[in-house]
Amino acid sequence: MAIQRFRALEEVLSRVPVNVELPAKTVSDFFGENVFNKETMKKWLSDEAYKSVMAAIEQGTKIDRSIADDVASSMKAWAMSKGVSHYTHWFQPLTGTTAEKHDAFAQNIEDGKALERFDGDQLVQQEPDASSFPSGGIRSTFEARGYTAWDPTSPAFIIAQTLCIPTIFVSYTGEALDYKTPLLKALHAIDKAAVDVCQYFDKNVTKVSATLGWEQEYFLIDSAFYNARPDIAFTGRALFGHSGAKGQQLEDHYFGSIPERVLSYIRDLEIECFKLGIPVKTRHNEVAPNQFECAPVFEEANLAVDHNSLLMDIMEKVARRHNFRVLLHEKPFAGVNGSGKHNNWSLSTNTGKNLLGPGKTPKTNLQFLTFFVNTIKAVHDNADLMRAVIASAGNEHRLGANEAPPAIVSVFIGSQLTKILEGLEKKVKSGKMTPEEKTDLKLDIGKIPSILLDNTDRNRTSPFAFTGNKFEFRAVGSSANCAAAMTVVNTIMADQLVKFKKDVDAQINKGVEKDEAIFHVLRDYISATKKILFEGNGYSEEWVKEAKKRGLSNIKTTPEALKVLTRKEVIKLFEQNNIMSEREQHARYEIQLETYMKKIQIESRMIGEMAIASIIPSALKYQTALIENLKGLKEVAAFAPTLKGEMKTQKAVLAGADEEFSPSLKGENRNPSPLGAGGDFSSSQMETIQEISQHVSAVKNNVYKMIEARKKANSLEDAQDKAAAYCEHVKPYFDEIRYHVDKLEFVVDDELWTLPKYREMLFTR
Ligand code: ADP
Ligand code: MG
Repeated sequence: MAIQRFRALEEVLSRVPVNVELPAKTVSDFFGENVFNKETMKKWLSDEAYKSVMAAIEQGTKIDRSIADDVASSMKAWAMSKGVSHYTHWFQPLTGTTAEKHDAFAQNIEDGKALERFDGDQLVQQEPDASSFPSGGIRSTFEARGYTAWDPTSPAFIIAQTLCIPTIFVSYTGEALDYKTPLLKALHAIDKAAVDVCQYFDKNVTKVSATLGWEQEYFLIDSAFYNARPDIAFTGRALFGHSGAKGQQLEDHYFGSIPERVLSYIRDLEIECFKLGIPVKTRHNEVAPNQFECAPVFEEANLAVDHNSLLMDIMEKVARRHNFRVLLHEKPFAGVNGSGKHNNWSLSTNTGKNLLGPGKTPKTNLQFLTFFVNTIKAVHDNADLMRAVIASAGNEHRLGANEAPPAIVSVFIGSQLTKILEGLEKKVKSGKMTPEEKTDLKLDIGKIPSILLDNTDRNRTSPFAFTGNKFEFRAVGSSANCAAAMTVVNTIMADQLVKFKKDVDAQINKGVEKDEAIFHVLRDYISATKKILFEGNGYSEEWVKEAKKRGLSNIKTTPEALKVLTRKEVIKLFEQNNIMSEREQHARYEIQLETYMKKIQIESRMIGEMAIASIIPSALKYQTALIENLKGLKEVAAFAPTLKGEMKTQKAVLAGADEEFSPSLKGENRNPSPLGAGGDFSSSQMETIQEISQHVSAVKNNVYKMIEARKKANSLEDAQDKAAAYCEHVKPYFDEIRYHVDKLEFVVDDELWTLPKYREMLFTR
């Protein structure tokens, strides 16, 4: 009996929504109550300490040790007033999750007494045992030390009686071992480069911050099903599963009403988010059944990245309270839409201007066009790096899989801006322009409507789309840390803006007037980057062909995409902009290859285990039952000759089927039936028996072939070769095995099937 599956079903059907008590206050009353934010700091810190922290946030200045003591003691007092007993440095190692190690404030002093202590040293720096975090060879095992260092630009917060201090994580020798360190450097680079360019337009701009508004897609399944599906529990996705009769074909889930149990989960999650100052705003169903989305109001990029990491963590915690499990995998269910994490990105100035939002005057619009065209140029010149940064085992199922942004990097800008760029390209003259020509151009630019947000002019198949006042990097995977994508986008943009300034200054130095110089450079960029712009359907076959003609890359696999990280120009890009050294980059490349390889390896092992020990036995049980049934029929038929006659009419259907018997059945089934040769009255049972045998042997053969391929891959030394071997020689068996397993699921008696099915996991609430 398929006890585990039916128990799970029973458990799920008996669930009642968890009652979520709303705090007896309005959201604005408890928003950020567990965050050591500006307002709280003002209350708890001395004037001097407050000013010092604010300067660190706004200008990146260092915080003095004595001030750090002051901050630490205030933080401790604030936290203890909220019942906190422990503190931790909270960081984002390259495992992709967040890490923390809790220490108690209380310390033993003499006479068996304890005292709560937390000073500047403990706030500023810690030495967690770093030996179990990936370092890509940077940190040898005998030198396991790594440091975490306080990032004052992201406020401390409280979760479960623990004060969490956002930190960077670096090796003993100073190399970044986390996501945050290069991100902070990229944000610094874009700040500087963008401020320099803004000086052409507005001398008041002294700081530019990158902004990020992420949209997190995810699936929810009941924990009982999760526990009964080892594949989902261990790999995050269903490695098998016949698509249910009803999938997403009716498209009735998107924006549909949210089921009560889910709503209670979402409400609970939102309350937790609000307490932590995460400004979540929208909630809705996604395209696939049991798929949802959560998005906040955009924030400064570093804070937004921390908030997303935090969100992924609390989503999981809150889900358990509601007997749900969150699936952040990019493709948990084949045949059903996958999950992404759109990264909406823009740049904003200290003067309150969005640099990717068109303004009202020709001057502000020239500034807008400058940043807009430079973004296109940056993506054009670094398209392969953009592809590399979204590469992962999970995202491999999405990219180019006819539903998510394709693996071909292109930029969508909409028809209005396409026309404006075309006009600019035509009207800007190479030589000196007359005042009339310039006025004409400026008039054109002045006509850019300040609101370009036109929902009809959206392209949901583009990996990088302009959406009116920001670019949306849509190809990022749902489980990814946004820091990686944000590091790349801001680095390539910073690099591009530096080049732009050089190009413009070169002309100005030759005596060309400033605006004209800007026009010239923009015109050249527009001409040089056309091939990256694409307005059509990114999922179509034609685009694949067209992109090839244009010379755009279409990097399909993760190992291939990661190879881009070893290109000379990429290494130089990160080095020159002071984001990462070559050693740091190489370490990251190795870690990602290894992570990819391990994920495929785990999936492959799980496929083998489940196929051999759970699926084949279920199939054989059913086959045995059919054989028993056959035997019985034959006995009955011996006593009821009319039955025999009826069955004979089906003989034609069976004609020749004997020859198609799977090898394992061929010998056995030729034994004569008590009714004479052929067993012709029992065609349908016989067919199923054969079918089962065929699929069972196909599953078994492929599993053993896959194990052989794995052994070969494991013997390879080089990380790139190994990852490629897993991708090219192990992974192809997954689909092959799945095909036969899913066929078995279709024919085997439902009562004997041990694994929860799609229709149950995706539709039972
Ligand atoms: P959708 O992509 O689903 O159509 P919207 O266009 O309404 O959704 O917005 C998506 C996201 O864009 C939101 O998370 C929002 O915070 C973010 N966003 C809006 N303006 C900016 C900006 N200037 N910088 C970064 N993100 C932004
Ligand atoms: Mg979006």
